[in-house]
Amino acid sequence: MSIRRSILLFLLFPISTVLLAAEADIILHHARIYTVDSAQSWAEAIAIKNGRISFVGSDQDVKSHQGKNTQLVDMKGKFILPSFQDVHIHPVAGGVAKTTGCPIFDMGGLKRILKKIARCVKDDSDALHISGYGWSWDDFSEDTPPHKAMLDKIDSSRPLFFGDSDGHTLVLNSAALAFAGITADTPDPEGGMIGRDPKTGELTGLLMEDSGMNLLLSKMPKITSNELKQGLLMAQSYLHSLGITAIQDAIVQVNPKNAFASLPVYKDMADSGELELRVVAALYWDPSKGMSQVAELQAARKQYSVGRLQATSVKFWADGILESYTAKMLEPYTDSPDSFGLLMVPHKQLLSATTIMDKLGFQLHIHAIGTATVRYALDAIEAAQIANGKRDARHHIAHVQLVHPDDIPRFGSLNVTANFQPFWAYGDSYVIDINAPQLGPERMEWMYPIGSIAKNGGRLAFGSDWSVSTANPFPAMEIAITRQDPETSTTEVFNPDERITLKQAIAGYTIGAAYTNFLDDDTGSIEEGKYADLIVVDRNLFEIPVSEISEANVLVTLLEGKEVFGKLSQ
Ligand SMILES: [Zn+2]
Repeated sequence: MSIRRSILLFLLFPISTVLLAAEADIILHHARIYTVDSAQSWAEAIAIKNGRISFVGSDQDVKSHQGKNTQLVDMKGKFILPSFQDVHIHPVAGGVAKTTGCPIFDMGGLKRILKKIARCVKDDSDALHISGYGWSWDDFSEDTPPHKAMLDKIDSSRPLFFGDSDGHTLVLNSAALAFAGITADTPDPEGGMIGRDPKTGELTGLLMEDSGMNLLLSKMPKITSNELKQGLLMAQSYLHSLGITAIQDAIVQVNPKNAFASLPVYKDMADSGELELRVVAALYWDPSKGMSQVAELQAARKQYSVGRLQATSVKFWADGILESYTAKMLEPYTDSPDSFGLLMVPHKQLLSATTIMDKLGFQLHIHAIGTATVRYALDAIEAAQIANGKRDARHHIAHVQLVHPDDIPRFGSLNVTANFQPFWAYGDSYVIDINAPQLGPERMEWMYPIGSIAKNGGRLAFGSDWSVSTANPFPAMEIAITRQDPETSTTEVFNPDERITLKQAIAGYTIGAAYTNFLDDDTGSIEEGKYADLIVVDRNLFEIPVSEISEANVLVTLLEGKEVFGKLSQ
């Protein structure tokens, strides 16, 4: 239509009909709404039409959106935010770990863990093996490290194996070691480790990192697709209860033979409408396959990017964790001067593979914990930019635990998002009892540099790494602001310069995460035209003591205006 004709049409209609707002399906008014728009503005009322926000503004102005079929909800001063997003989470593995086998999460110490395992063994006398997930390193001490003998004492007749909540380590009994065919002569697999007594060389029962754990897991019966689906459904309703409606699944296995190959389950749920989460799937880069997997990853992206599911990211699990000395360091561990840690993806492969995947338009999601790995990840992204040119790539580095000061400004200059898990950023027993002796005082100051990266122009996005830690954003936000234990608020402030503001903390879980998920055109703030993905919170975070933020609760979660948790009219 020519411009002249459209002006003519416009003139044919009276001005009043042009300005008349569409009748909203829902109006929320008398609310305290922190919109997270670029002006960080506040509002009183929201109108929702067809799942999208049709108006944000004052109680007075929203009235023009009210019609006779509009559901009008008086929020009585309640606090409203955009719903949260989590940019590093393991919903399927977490959901399965919490719904199958013998879960041992949050048991409160080794004694209780062993008691629980003994109970599972007794209750399930027919099972061919007993397994579960959820122990953590602070359940153990130097004198009582995780060891096969603990499990042998409970049952030595059939395989028992239990994974840590981080998904990096398994402890097996002797029967499980035998079942997997692992002996003292078995060499460590590439990128993994078999635990051995440093003096005798005897197996300890530990298998570390993916390739290590796979020595056993590849021989275990496959998790059924129904178990995967039940796990995902459990995770989805858990996340809704915490106000989370979008995530980046940090490891999605493409290989259909992998125990956690979840793409078909995701797609079925996306097709049927059961997927009530926006999901970016970070497809796992298998270092043992090298470049031969590129076509497979492209095919997976094409096949599995439907509706709320977008398989557009690729995950490089580049190193391990500090606690098991598998995080790769520029300088050796202080209390183990020969150890520099491990790279799960060989350095050369990381450089070449990231350039190829960037060229193919994938987002890079790189797990990097140690100083060397963070540097290599930044180098890899820089190399990709030089080779392919800058584009709207939104690459991100996850965990970012230990960053050499020279690398801090590179997040901003390379436009790389720092994907932090703020829940870890205080002096808990991991940090004080385990990490401090490993790193020495200077490097302890480099830990979780959330504030420094932000001050130097880097983007922030937050996630939980659930089921490693709670997926609840409120305690994590409090820690980002205080760098203290959110329960007691009495621990020493850990790296005080790294504290951020409440507004920054909210942004990390909303617009910052939405940007990283390529969802910021549609979500991450409360603005006209975006989806009505909103939460109602039981207190105004800006009006309570900071130490109370961790206690806040989500009352209602809306996805496209639909109540997926709680009820508006109560
Ligand atoms: Zn993770």
